[in-house]
Amino acid sequence: MRGIVLAALLAGWAGLATPLAAEPDIGGVDLDAERAAIARFQDADQRLQDVGWTIIRGNAEFCPRVIPSIGLQLQDLASYGSPKIARAALGFEGDFAVETAARGSPAALSGEFARNREIVALERFDPNEWPSGSRKDWRRLKRAHDHVDAMLAEHGGITVRFADGGEARVTPVDVCATRFELMGGGRRAVADGERVVIGIEFPAFSYEEAVFAGVVAHELAHNFLAHSEWLDRNKRKRRHVRRTEREADRLMPWLLANAGYDPEAAIRFMETWGRKHDGGLFRARTHDGWDERAEVIAAEIPLIRELMAREGKADWSAHFKRGIDPDKER
Ligand SMILES: [Zn+2]
Repeated sequence: MRGIVLAALLAGWAGLATPLAAEPDIGGVDLDAERAAIARFQDADQRLQDVGWTIIRGNAEFCPRVIPSIGLQLQDLASYGSPKIARAALGFEGDFAVETAARGSPAALSGEFARNREIVALERFDPNEWPSGSRKDWRRLKRAHDHVDAMLAEHGGITVRFADGGEARVTPVDVCATRFELMGGGRRAVADGERVVIGIEFPAFSYEEAVFAGVVAHELAHNFLAHSEWLDRNKRKRRHVRRTEREADRLMPWLLANAGYDPEAAIRFMETWGRKHDGGLFRARTHDGWDERAEVIAAEIPLIRELMAREGKADWSAHFKRGIDPDKER
């Protein structure tokens, strides 16, 4: 029973619209266990948003598409499998609250965005008043994030009001345009051009930060290099996917270096993760083996080190040699 409720609670986001039985009654639910499960999800989300922010901030001057951002991730109880249980566990009046403020972001530096602080206005709108499905509805949360982005782009800042009567006005900084979403289940990491989505069971969550940053950098590289558009145009043949994977691997250490991480952490990621999860008979044929992938990454390091020493940054928009022609076929 407990396991079922936890799974339902955490299966939000990313449109996992699995139909389930009616919402369970909250009588008999272990709310401490629910709180612990939510806290575990939020801890992982914090890690993802912290690392993601570090990379999109550190690489902003090289990205093809840049947006103003305050580094705030919201939560909407309507996106949970059981909003009723989540509301009881968290003691919320409404549905919207702070999920995370990314480390070093304007939201975090303001000191106003404590986890689970309830929100009643994003500028002139109360998102709690927007219609939503009764559960597992991630669209309203997306709408709220879109609204925040639009306010920042159009007005150069946003005023957020909290249920406790507090208020914060936050001014954005430029970052590469991408959102990070944690999925409540699964061990996959994917990039769709707009988002990086990582399942909470992805093994790298337990790695040291710079090594975990490797997987985030790999997925970001797919977005920055517009791989999904290229694959849409050129078809997702195995050899095409393999070329985009190799290119994303090669960009990993560049993105890490500009974010202040050791670029060699990209190699350590491939060795740590690949040795265990990418070997032997089950090796995906769309990807090179982990050992080849580590070598391809290592080949980028000397140029990155030289640029960092000379310019203090590794400008991949000028110095990274593309493995595919982004504008043409092949
Ligand atoms: Zn990939």
